[in-house]
Amino acid sequence: MSDRRETDVVVIGGGPAGLSAAAAAAEAGAKVVLVDRNRQLGGILNQCIHDGFGLQAFGEVLTGPEFAARVAARALEAGIEVHTDTMVTDLTSSRELVCTTSGERYPLRAEAVVLAMGCRERTRGMLRIPGTRPAGVYTAGAAQWLTNMADVRVGRRVFILGSGDVGLIMARRLVWEGAEVAGVAELLPYPSGLPRNVSQCLEEYDIPLYLAHSVTCIHGRDRVEAVTVTRFDERRLPIAGTEFEVACDTLLLSVGLIPENELSRNADVVLDPMTGGAVVNERYMTSVDGIFSCGNVLHIHDLADRAAEEGDRAGRCAARYALGPSTSRREELRIDAGEGIRYVVPQRAERSAEELLVSLRISEPADRCTAVVTAGDRVIAEESLRHGHPSTMVQMRLRSRGGIDADRLEVRMR
Ligand SMILES: Cc1cc2nc3c(=O)[nH]c(=O)nc-3n(C[C@H](O)[C@H](O)[C@H](O)COP(=O)(O)OP(=O)(O)OC[C@H]3O[C@@H](n4cnc5c(N)ncnc54)[C@H](O)[C@@H]3O)c2cc1C
Repeated sequence: MSDRRETDVVVIGGGPAGLSAAAAAAEAGAKVVLVDRNRQLGGILNQCIHDGFGLQAFGEVLTGPEFAARVAARALEAGIEVHTDTMVTDLTSSRELVCTTSGERYPLRAEAVVLAMGCRERTRGMLRIPGTRPAGVYTAGAAQWLTNMADVRVGRRVFILGSGDVGLIMARRLVWEGAEVAGVAELLPYPSGLPRNVSQCLEEYDIPLYLAHSVTCIHGRDRVEAVTVTRFDERRLPIAGTEFEVACDTLLLSVGLIPENELSRNADVVLDPMTGGAVVNERYMTSVDGIFSCGNVLHIHDLADRAAEEGDRAGRCAARYALGPSTSRREELRIDAGEGIRYVVPQRAERSAEELLVSLRISEPADRCTAVVTAGDRVIAEESLRHGHPSTMVQMRLRSRGGIDADRLEVRMR
């Protein structure tokens, strides 16, 4: 291993969150090294060639690669050092990293580290669908990569399990490629992807969506030949006698994303079982001083724009930590998810914080509902939602002059 190098901030991951974090940290005066295992910066956005990105961040409709190019240009202009084709294979709680690239391993140390490693997809092995193990079963993201990056045709007649956004977008994409999409089955009684993707990617193409249904068997010896689809009850148990078979040569899985936190665990970062990401405070600092987290590795975002915005804030805080006088962690209060709320981020906040941005997901779809933040009996913020949906991230900004006088805040639906 070559000699250890030191820098102010290391950002792990060059997707929209990591690039924005790196740009913001460098603009704040920090020396920044960004490491990404891919050859090209931009993360998953490089394979998302459809448009719909950028409205929030740039006020323009961009494709994924165009959005990635904008955030990469900002980071490069700010003077960051980039190590692509390089994977961070270890991270300790004292912010020592091991970087591995072809034929070389080298150590790095930073005053602050920003975790921005994104997420990966749940696979067939995690679902335990009975049946044979033929070719033709892909995660939606793998099919997206094969279609958009490798020009490979994944199938002619496709069925999709799960109504996550990547699967919905792939339904439309595969129709454009000349495939027939026989339908989408979703175990929940409502779609798990964004309403705009349901209407633009399924309804506009007459692709049936089977809510409260799942694939209960995969058939075929060498290649998928059909799937059995079954209706499920409200306890999520299959209803006997409701099975029907759909002929297809391909099954796509769009059944959830998992934040990639193996490195975070190595560094003893405390994780939240609800988000799968780190427990952070309002500065996006994890339970380990000097280690920050943002983007999909922290919690799964609905829009890349919001992942980038979060990266921006985390990067600024990381630079402040790296360049500022060392101060010990101040007294923190807890922010808990109450009734009707699946999770909140951040889960902690310094009591002296005068401004807080809370991101949350509600548990069930609901019209005309209100998310409220309470400190004991006091309501300190509320947000009305016309059409609340678990697929859509809700953000609430709390302002409090002189800090928050409470040990615990709770966010719940009213
Ligand atoms: C498969 C898939 C398809 C998607 N398709 C769409 C879509 O079509 N439309 C849409 O709106 N949104 C889509 N999304 C969501 C979109 O990816 C996110 O909104 C956004 O890209 C999240 O940004 P990020 O920076 O947090 O993560 P990412 O963009 O995933 O970037 C993470 C980066 O970290 C790098 N990395 C991870 N671990 C290491 C390590 N140990 N060392 C070095 N580098 C590392 C990865 O190589 C990657 O470049 C998709 C997500 C996935 C997972």
